[in-house]
Amino acid sequence: MFTSTNPATGQQISTHEELTAAQIEEKLDKAATAYQQWRTSSLEERSALLNRLADQYESQKDRLATMATQEMGKTYASSVAEVQKCAAAFRYYAEHGPAMLEPENIELSNGNKALAQWLPQGPVLAVMPWNFPFWQAVRFLAPTIMAGNVGLLKHASIVQGVGALMEEMVLAADGPEGLFQNLAIKSGAVADIIADERIVAVTLTGSEGAGMAVAEQAGRHLKKVVLELGGSDPFIVMPSADLDDAVSKAVTGRIQNTGQSCICAKRLIVHADIHDAFLEKYSEAMKAVTTGDPMDANTDMGPLSSFEQRDTVLSQLESAKKAGATLLFGGEALPGDGAFMSPGILVNVPPSSDLMAEEIFGPVMMAFKVADIDEAIKLANDIPFGLGSSVWTTEPAEQERFIRDIEAGMTAVNQIVASSPEAPFGGIKRSGHGRELGPYGLHEFMNLKTVLLP
Ligand code: NAP
Repeated sequence: MFTSTNPATGQQISTHEELTAAQIEEKLDKAATAYQQWRTSSLEERSALLNRLADQYESQKDRLATMATQEMGKTYASSVAEVQKCAAAFRYYAEHGPAMLEPENIELSNGNKALAQWLPQGPVLAVMPWNFPFWQAVRFLAPTIMAGNVGLLKHASIVQGVGALMEEMVLAADGPEGLFQNLAIKSGAVADIIADERIVAVTLTGSEGAGMAVAEQAGRHLKKVVLELGGSDPFIVMPSADLDDAVSKAVTGRIQNTGQSCICAKRLIVHADIHDAFLEKYSEAMKAVTTGDPMDANTDMGPLSSFEQRDTVLSQLESAKKAGATLLFGGEALPGDGAFMSPGILVNVPPSSDLMAEEIFGPVMMAFKVADIDEAIKLANDIPFGLGSSVWTTEPAEQERFIRDIEAGMTAVNQIVASSPEAPFGGIKRSGHGRELGPYGLHEFMNLKTVLLP
């Protein structure tokens, strides 16, 4: 049994039955059958379904957004934006997907001709997190439909309502039965599904621990795996930056989704020449963030996704303080029934502390002062993660250094890191491997068949 609890009120909003072994078996069979049909569908059919799905998300956006906000606490405005972004991703693959699947002509040195042709592979399992409950799963679903694969979703336990709605939307868009199914299962049931011969590959967005468990099982069964894991992204500000813009974006970058985004700016690294002035403005702006009812349009930040999530962040802050770090302000649980906490800033985090190897999935920024660009890059890279990075400088030479030397899957120049349907998204080091979105995300689970032509 799954229980969805509204973290803004602490009230239980729904329960969801867990699938039995027989029901899982039935769904795997359904996926295998659906794949045999869908693999032969035309690219026009796939595009048409993606466009109908985009229509569904747009026409049902209030219902979908309300479910996300109630289950995991993000502001309603950001839930609506997330649903609209999902619709944009469906339309992107509907319009551009067919061109990405054009076969490539190859001239062989012996004078013969060959083709490299993209073909589907089968049912793919997606294990997804709660933080962007629609968007994370749509990053998988949209290319799955265009590829001619079929999908099974194991969504996070606290967003089973979203998982069920996502399946409903595909059926409402006249998607074939079995093309996309929500599996209401606990994480303990994932290993057997990966092992099942009907499943060809697995993608996971989540924590390192979950990534390791899934990758281990995929490796044992020689199945391809894409991992989108955590990050502790640097936000580096150099003296030439527009300070007011950088301050405002460093606030958004840290508090968006109540600090629960893999690509949140988590480590503020500021050049010594501007450090004190920057930190003063940044502190003021963080203190001005409004926290409260996520349904209220004036709220900047809702609660954490659950009371457990808030406890995790609070205990990370306690350990950091014991290790010598100082909480300048905030970072405290707020009184009341919801899982709210105040935004805060942590300074003097010792390089050896555990926190440098963890991500803070809550609205507390770690701030550091550096003497020059070399020290900024060293500090940026001195962590196990390599997901995103945001760099603030108008000096072309500094921009080039950051782009070349920061160990991350993404570097955003004078802006915060964000995903978009067109651009590849993913990390290096312990942030995972493989890419989602753009043509790269479409190709990840396809068979690039070489055809030697007669
Ligand atoms: P999580 O605890 O790792 O859960 C993610 C998913 O994995 C959930 O569906 C979870 O199921 C499942 N899971 C957990 N342990 C598992 C195991 N041993 N075997 C199989 N499945 C398992 O992460 P989360 O707390 O939901 O999400 C936050 C994490 O996701 C953060 O680390 C964040 O940085 C990362 N993230 C990364 C990206 C990216 O694109 N790189 C994007 C968003 C989030 P249950 O809910 O049932 O436990």
